[in-house]
Amino acid sequence: MPLMLSSPSPVLELKPYKSLADAELISRIQAVRESLGRELLILGHHYQQDEVIALSDFRGDSYGLSQNAASSSDCRSIVFCGVHFMAETADILANRPEKLAERTGRRVPVVLPDLAAGCSMADMAAIDQIEDAWDQLGDVLETADLTPVTYINSAASLKAFVGRHGGIVCTSSNAKAALEWAFARTRRVMFFPDQHLGRNTAFRMGVRNDEMPVWDPYAPALGGNTAGQLAASRVILWKGHCSVHQMFRPEHVRMFRQKYPGIKIIVHPECPQEVFELADESGSTSKIIKTVEAAAPGTKWAIGTELHLVNRLKQQHPEQEIHFLSPVVCMCATMYRIDLAHLCWSLENLAAGTAVNVIEVDEETARWSLVALERMLEVR
Ligand code: SF4
Repeated sequence: MPLMLSSPSPVLELKPYKSLADAELISRIQAVRESLGRELLILGHHYQQDEVIALSDFRGDSYGLSQNAASSSDCRSIVFCGVHFMAETADILANRPEKLAERTGRRVPVVLPDLAAGCSMADMAAIDQIEDAWDQLGDVLETADLTPVTYINSAASLKAFVGRHGGIVCTSSNAKAALEWAFARTRRVMFFPDQHLGRNTAFRMGVRNDEMPVWDPYAPALGGNTAGQLAASRVILWKGHCSVHQMFRPEHVRMFRQKYPGIKIIVHPECPQEVFELADESGSTSKIIKTVEAAAPGTKWAIGTELHLVNRLKQQHPEQEIHFLSPVVCMCATMYRIDLAHLCWSLENLAAGTAVNVIEVDEETARWSLVALERMLEVR
């Protein structure tokens, strides 16, 4: 029988956990998991370190984990081993009005074990910059003919902006469907914060590069564009990127092809266009995993996505030859902040009755974000 959370006690300090050995941390984390049973849901993003993934109830990409949070029914707490925007999305979905009504108003706290686990891409688009860009665009374009689309890797405030302005959230799995949804409504799209996902997706849909100006929020006016360039645009791309996927270069693709004849290159769509277009295959982390799982023994791969995921695929598929598509280390440093010490500390606090590092989105932001997220969940 799972134990109920005990009454709140003083917050346990993090510092002592940092000097504990991994074996002890793992055993204490397991003890909390066993005691809380189904009341606790630990979600682990594919880019997490192996030790954390091994202790997660579900592993997935941001889209899959959002669905887990959205469908959670009997858990009382979610511990999200990912980054800040993912925990915000989980909070919005797990505590949406119908879920709160089912639980007679009880919220499910969403805990981010280390509050410093942010996302450099999400940080490249602040809500005041987006609002300013929208206002400036309104001076030269008809914004009624412009749909904002935000990648799920963005702050809740941006998702709420999109919800309020008739737009949609997308993931790397459904970006094409989200753009089709947007183009069925308006002639133009404003896509943020990842220029590469926006460009790669729209280009494959037939939008030319010269129809996709980049909006630089630090440029003095019009994001560094002329009114004419914006008038000729189909997709206005935000000048943001993922610091991990930005590291893959065309010369890496060429080097692997030369060194390993017959090798297949598969990359995430957050990679720059010149890499994306050279690759044999592309897709979200889930698609990359499924593609590798389905490949014949002996297949050679060079994979352009986060290092922890590639190393895990290497271990799980010794029958294939898997390489990391870069000579330099590209790992998500912020995701890496969620280590065993932070996980154990947050779980033992939870078991003692205190949820630490709770990510809670304010009601108004959550309401509008949900509008945009629900559109995302409907679009495949
Ligand atoms: S891999 Fe890139 S986009 Fe994903 S969380 Fe890390 S910095 Fe953000």
